[in-house]
Amino acid sequence: MKWKKSYHLNQVIVLGQKIKIENVPPRGEVLGEFCHMSMTIRLDATLPPAQYKTVLIHELTHAALALTGIANYQITEAVEEQLCTLNEILIKDIFNAVSKVN
Ligand SMILES: [Zn+2]
Repeated sequence: MKWKKSYHLNQVIVLGQKIKIENVPPRGEVLGEFCHMSMTIRLDATLPPAQYKTVLIHELTHAALALTGIANYQITEAVEEQLCTLNEILIKDIFNAVSKVN
């Protein structure tokens, strides 16, 4: 497939649950999406690595919120979106911080 890049993932494990990753051709402004029914994340396969990681973090947060039952029942869609957007930066900051602990 012409969209395939070396850094693309095919699956990840979140909270013990396998999440399938589909790397798909661009579809307008949608860079990524999570489908709870199929436990699948679709990512725009043309994204450069840094943006691919950011969108992956965003969609994995949607997955985690769905898996824990927080999404759809305990928070509004707007709050869910805010949490996912927050995590795009927060996860990287936390990773950078803990990587300095020896
Ligand atoms: Zn979102």
